[in-house]
Parts: sequence; structure tokens; C-alpha cells
Amino acid sequence: MSAARGDVVDLRSDTVTRPTAGMRDAIARADVGDDMLDGDPTVQRLERRIADLLGKPAAAFFPSGIMANQTALLVLGTRGTEVICEAAAHIVDWELAGVAMNGGLQLRTVPTADGILTAELIEPAIRPHAAKLQVQTSLIAVENTHNAAGGRVMPLDAMRGVHQLARAHGLPVHLDGARLWHASAATGIAEADYAACADTVMVTLSKGLGCPVGSVLAGAAETIEHARVVRRRLGGAMRQAGILAAAGLYALEYHRDRLLQDHDRAQALGGLAATIEGLRVVEPETNIIMFDLTRPGTIAQDVLPKLAGHGVLMTEFTPTRIRAVLHMDVDDAGVERAASALREVLAG
Ligand SMILES: *Cc1c(COP(=O)(O)O)cnc(C)c1O
Repeated sequence: MSAARGDVVDLRSDTVTRPTAGMRDAIARADVGDDMLDGDPTVQRLERRIADLLGKPAAAFFPSGIMANQTALLVLGTRGTEVICEAAAHIVDWELAGVAMNGGLQLRTVPTADGILTAELIEPAIRPHAAKLQVQTSLIAVENTHNAAGGRVMPLDAMRGVHQLARAHGLPVHLDGARLWHASAATGIAEADYAACADTVMVTLSKGLGCPVGSVLAGAAETIEHARVVRRRLGGAMRQAGILAAAGLYALEYHRDRLLQDHDRAQALGGLAATIEGLRVVEPETNIIMFDLTRPGTIAQDVLPKLAGHGVLMTEFTPTRIRAVLHMDVDDAGVERAASALREVLAG
């Protein structure tokens, strides 16, 4: 990026945030230890805090959400079986076939109109245990909020339905809750209520909460004990990781309460963009907003560099759909700049 960062409204992802002064201070002051040898006290505090917040007995700190997802699927699944998930789930599109490479699992994808899996949609995909010649189902994975569906919230009722169905079939459920914080902010429903519908829950600290690194996997004590072994095997066991965990604890304290600002700004951007010709706004539910380019011949590949020329960065989602993600490093002025850039680029 040639322009100075301060001049750019970076809406490519909520991962682009940089630690605030307060967070850097918390990082600097963190009490640390070798997490593999004696345990790191700050990591342990973060793990306890998130386990409690999610209503699970235990939790483990991971370097990334992908590693925590992979670990959960390896721990809950059985090699040579399949995981049922939504067709545009993060584990399908963005984890480089990790569940196949690392876990010997295949994904049985269920297409949905809006990213929301329901028991009714999943049930036909579950293989009966009696069938000896067909691949077996070993677990169900859900995602809340659903990234590729534009940050859509999976309603608690849908999650409860999936959980009940899974139980009836003796199947565990993994919740990819990279943005579970946003689901809770949007609905007012506690993270623990969503988490109660799953055996393992992954939450990310490096997205909306503004941490530089880290995700946490929560679940039953034995499950998390096993997950720690898998984490080490994958090379994700860390040492004085308290400097990272300190950022997480800080974010839970000071950044979790402000997520609705990002949702409001996504709404505001949608409102400003709604009057732009050649653009259709996909109504945002949380901090992700999608725009469809409706004028024939107008494609994301042409629009994005022009937006960048105006100092506004977004990403291509499909050839005619662009995506913007609101986060704590974009303020109201940034939203206005993004809207005027869209207006100018689409007019010209
Ligand atoms: C970003 C994301 C992940 C992976 O997180 P990383 O920390 O980037 O590995 C997993 N699931 C969803 C839904 C995500 O948006």
C-alpha cells in the first residue's frame, strides 16, 4: 500500500486493526511464563475468563482461528468420516482443505439460501449408522456469525434445533464463533447461550476485538486436554504467550462493549450507499456489508482499484459483489469517505 496508513480507510477485513495504546500497555505489563513448562499465568487467566464467558469447563489459547477450528474438528471427528457444514462455511472455503489434510475428514456441505443451517436442512445429510457401505457422519459444524453470508447471525432457535438433532444422532457440534461476539452484540443474547448449543466453541480475538493475535477454543475438560495435544502436534503450542493473552484480556474488558458501533457504522454505510446508482446494498446485520454491482459490465476488479485510488480499500467477494468490514480503526469520517468514494467511482 503506497498511501500512508492514516490516509486509508481499510475495510478489507476486521483483522487489519492495530493494538491501541492501552492494549500495548497491557501487553508490556503482562506477567508471563513458559506455557508449555509451568504454564503462563496470563494465558491461564484468559483461558479461564473465556471458558467462564462461554459457560464451558475449559479453554485453550491458540495462535489462530483456523488452527483452533482444525483442532476442534480433529478432536471431535473420526478419520475417514465426514463433517456436515454449510456450503460457504469458513472451513470449506478458507482453510485450504485443512480438515482433509490434517484430520482425514471430508466435508459434507449443505447449501442454504442465507448461510443459516437448520435441523431440517441438515437431517437428510446425516448418514444412518447402520449403513456399512456409505461414509459415516461424525460431527456437525456451524458458524455464527456467518462470514460469507455477510456477517449474518445464526438465530438461537436454529442453533438449538441443530443441537437437538445432533444429540438425537449422537453427533457432536463445533461452533466456529470467530465473530460470536458480534452475534451477541446484535441480538443481546449471551455468548454462553449460543455456546450451550455446541460441544466446542472457537472465538477469535484478532478480529472485531482488535487483538494482534489469538483465538480460543472452549469445551469440556477432556476435550480441551486432547485439544492441547493436537495443538502442540500442529505446532501451535506457545511459550510466553501471556503477552498475547494480555491483549485478549484487555480487549474483553474495553473493546467488547463497543462492537455495536461497528454494526451501526455498517448500517450507516449501507444507508449512504443505498442511493448510489449501480449498487445494491445487502442489508448488514453486524459489521460486514456487501454491495452488488448491478450495472452490466461493472465488475469488482475494475471498481476496487478505483476505490483504492480514493484511499478506500474493500475486497472482491464475487466478480460482481464487493465486501466491506467495519472495525475499531474506522470512524464515522471513514464511513463517509467510503460512501463518497463509492459514489464517485460508480458515477465515473
Ligand atoms: C477469520 C475466520 C476464521 C479463522 O481465523 P484466523 O485467526 O484468521 O485463522 C475462522 N472462521 C471464521 C468464520 C472467520 O471469519
